[in-house]
Amino acid sequence: MSIKVKFSEVQQSNLSKVDFDNLPFGKTFTDYMFEIDYISGEWVNPSVKPVQMLDIHPGNMAWHYGQSIFEGMKATKSKDGVPLLFRPDLHAKRLNKSARRMCMPEIPEQMFLDAVHTLVNLERAWIPPHKGSAMYIRPFMFATDNTIGVRASDNYKFIIFTMPVGPYYNHPVSLWAQDEYFRAVVGGVGEAKTAGNYAASLYPAAMAKKLGYDQVMWLDAVHKRYVQEVGTMNIFFVVDDEICTPNLDGAILAGITRDSVLKIYREKGYRVSERPVDIHEIVDAAKSGSLKEIFGTGTAAVVANVNKFMYKDEEFLLDPKNYNYSVEAKEIINSIREGSHEDTFNWLVPAECKFEWI
Ligand SMILES: *Cc1c(COP(=O)(O)O)cnc(C)c1O
Repeated sequence: MSIKVKFSEVQQSNLSKVDFDNLPFGKTFTDYMFEIDYISGEWVNPSVKPVQMLDIHPGNMAWHYGQSIFEGMKATKSKDGVPLLFRPDLHAKRLNKSARRMCMPEIPEQMFLDAVHTLVNLERAWIPPHKGSAMYIRPFMFATDNTIGVRASDNYKFIIFTMPVGPYYNHPVSLWAQDEYFRAVVGGVGEAKTAGNYAASLYPAAMAKKLGYDQVMWLDAVHKRYVQEVGTMNIFFVVDDEICTPNLDGAILAGITRDSVLKIYREKGYRVSERPVDIHEIVDAAKSGSLKEIFGTGTAAVVANVNKFMYKDEEFLLDPKNYNYSVEAKEIINSIREGSHEDTFNWLVPAECKFEWI
């Protein structure tokens, strides 16, 4: 049964103004957004309308106390122009997992999926044609009570907007591994895709930049030695013929790209492990020459190769030109998305209009 959704048409589409060959990441918005409110315990007033300003009171609780969560996903299109979503069900589940941790209401999975489907279907002309380019989809939810006083808000807003994006992180990245600042701790909110995690990462990220590195390699806050993530991506290491990534210990964001990459490697029969990865082990492997690759994984970049890292004033170099595993995973994911590699895992879902417009 499709739900009835209010539709307001744009006066004039911005599509003709977009240069798909030169898309800066995160600056170009498509025409429409989906919006729905959570009021008195119910999701009400769903609408699809032109991307527009929000009217927000200065006492809005999201600004003061940080109840704000989001997802990041991508749509591509097949050779015959069908808009395709990549593992959307996992994003619906993860948003709700973030919502539970942040004391926010869950959104029915079907509502989330129908909204993503419909918006992407409506905006399919905005999906860039080039391989590695995509439509980035940003669903997010935030508190809307206007109250000063720390408690969970009673009311919320959920919005989805979309943006065409070019290939991200084409260049290898350099990392600063440090044990002074931490992203997340077991029992904290590192597993939730919540705004505050990113705010907390900005200062150490700026320090990394100052030292000449692109991103921070995050270590655990208790032992100050187990690697967690890189920047806002999950992290993989290849040591001899073992591909390893930190196990999901409660402080690590469970990336969907991480999961896809693991599935691809396991299907190929590679030696894969999810386990604690000690920075000292990685340093030793770098010194002995058994460290073959380091790369990050995430929806935006898919895979980002690392060309060097610094730890305790020592710098270690890697040469992404010799990388095999990371290149293979990225190629397979991008080819599945574009329809030139068989979708053996059934990750793609055609985006359809699920709403009845009123
Ligand atoms: C979103 C995110 C990732 C990557 O998750 P994907 O589902 O692969 O996009 C990894 N780490 C952090 C901190 C993130 O916010």
